[in-house]
Amino acid sequence: MDPSPKTEITVQGIAASQGIAYGQIFVYVQNDVEVPSYQVEPEKRIDEVARFDRALVVTRQQITKIKNEVEKNIGPEEAAIFDAHLMVLEDEALIGETIRAFEASGQNIETCFHQVSSRYVQAFSEIDDEYLRERAGDLRDVAQRVLQNLLGQAENALSRLADQRIVVASDITPSDSASLDRTAALALVIDSGSKTSHAVIVARSMKVPAVVGVRNLTQRVHNGDWAIVDGYDGVVILNPSESTLFRYGTIQEQKKSFDAQLLEVNRLPAITLDGVPVTLLANIEKVDEVTRAKAYFAQGIGLYRTEFLFIGTSRMPHEQEQFVAYKTVVEAMAPEPVIIRTLDLGGDKPLAGKSDLFPKENNPFMGFRAIRFCLEHQDIFREQLRAILMASAFGKVKIMYPMVSGTEEMVRANAVLREAMAELRARGVPYDEKVEVGAMIEIPSAAHTADLLAGECNFFSVGTNDLIQYLLAIDRVNDRIAHLYEPTHPALLRTLRFVIDEAHRQNLPVGVCGEMAGDPIFAPLLLGLGIDSLSMSPAWLPAVKYLIRAMSMADARALAAQAMGMRSPKEIFALCDAFYRARVRMD
Ligand code: PEP
Ligand code: MG
Repeated sequence: MDPSPKTEITVQGIAASQGIAYGQIFVYVQNDVEVPSYQVEPEKRIDEVARFDRALVVTRQQITKIKNEVEKNIGPEEAAIFDAHLMVLEDEALIGETIRAFEASGQNIETCFHQVSSRYVQAFSEIDDEYLRERAGDLRDVAQRVLQNLLGQAENALSRLADQRIVVASDITPSDSASLDRTAALALVIDSGSKTSHAVIVARSMKVPAVVGVRNLTQRVHNGDWAIVDGYDGVVILNPSESTLFRYGTIQEQKKSFDAQLLEVNRLPAITLDGVPVTLLANIEKVDEVTRAKAYFAQGIGLYRTEFLFIGTSRMPHEQEQFVAYKTVVEAMAPEPVIIRTLDLGGDKPLAGKSDLFPKENNPFMGFRAIRFCLEHQDIFREQLRAILMASAFGKVKIMYPMVSGTEEMVRANAVLREAMAELRARGVPYDEKVEVGAMIEIPSAAHTADLLAGECNFFSVGTNDLIQYLLAIDRVNDRIAHLYEPTHPALLRTLRFVIDEAHRQNLPVGVCGEMAGDPIFAPLLLGLGIDSLSMSPAWLPAVKYLIRAMSMADARALAAQAMGMRSPKEIFALCDAFYRARVRMD
């Protein structure tokens, strides 16, 4: 099959979109547009500005077309990426400065636009803020498109791949990924990139396997080279041998039959072999994700990240707007419960363009965020609480506060909640008087005062994403130390043990809504420790349910007891992995 006698080379990257592909490589080189520079005669200057206007209009039409196609084929969330692109075209500063530079210098408009946009891209990419750095990417992408239109150049090669190919690129912009020929792209491999880049989001929604972070692979391969892309383990194998091909062929078959088994358990109850039912809930960020939660038979929403209603908008959504969003989710899930988390802004989720509310910080993860922000901006907090309470009249709502560090914040937040209730009562607006209130346990100080916090709320939900980050002092978004981010660290197990015991002593249920909950390797450990419910991204529900139906709770408890006696994260991980593998049939 492999026509090349070259030796097999394995390149390790980061798994970004699941799946396995085998085929020939297409190396995509994104050439910067070459911009000619010349003087424009004074009498032609009006035409030059008109030419610029026309290029902006054409670019807007192209982006709107891509946006509509993405919305139709992939979904509204992915299409929203292109709203940011359209906003670039309306940027007064960028357009105005280009025209002013043209008027002052008389240089052709491409040169002026190129200079101004490059300056902006440079300035944005130097800012120590992930959101703004992403805006630099948007700006670069749109600027290339405007320049191509000014120069009358055609669209990129990705939209017309001649044959089925594995696309290897140093970077892929959102426009690139949107114009990617879906029928012909077997897999995406990107030199740079993170798991959360736009290209990866699009690849995942298209169910195209993707591996990112393979450094300079584009420089080591050629068009037509053969490769396997393993989007499960984040590996690219160049010139695979016959035995590797055979091994991957078998894996692919196994994965397919396992996917079929997952589909079968989707409708069945989450119940262990010894008859213990387990509550499986869904995490959502946007209203329309409720559809997926229901498609995967979630028994409720365990985490509704409401900050996404605020992020990406230029103004704060007001009470009525929030109410409509919350009510839609609550009604869609009724009678199942919906845990609505109050704003978790700041840290990795700042509010763009609101530097008055979120001043720049040196250490935003430990800074002015979540409940700290809400308690200082009580008008914003109360407005959100009113909107949530109003939605509570339409189904089963529970309220949850993020990043609580101890009882004092809990008491203060509950006082604001009572004020919000009083305001609604005065207005004669109905709400659930008995609405339950929970604390997220994601800061070590909250975990270690769980016995005290339990007196101030009705339930706990452990945010393992942040709890691990703070317990182990490992920045959860820093690639360089990602290998040290260990969910099986004994410190986490001991912390969970304490939280669960203290909560249960006071009859409080404890759920987990961090990523650990949706990982079938860790779910048995959490359940064995006594966690009452697991909340996860909807797509993970079948895999976790499959395992629950294949294990007994007695075995999970024994697993947890054995893990509690172990000393190293690796040893505990191996134990959990063996537990999982012994129960999951991949035949
Ligand atoms: C967590 O920290 O585990 C969590 C669920 O919250 P987020 O990921 O939104 O910070
Ligand atoms: Mg968190």
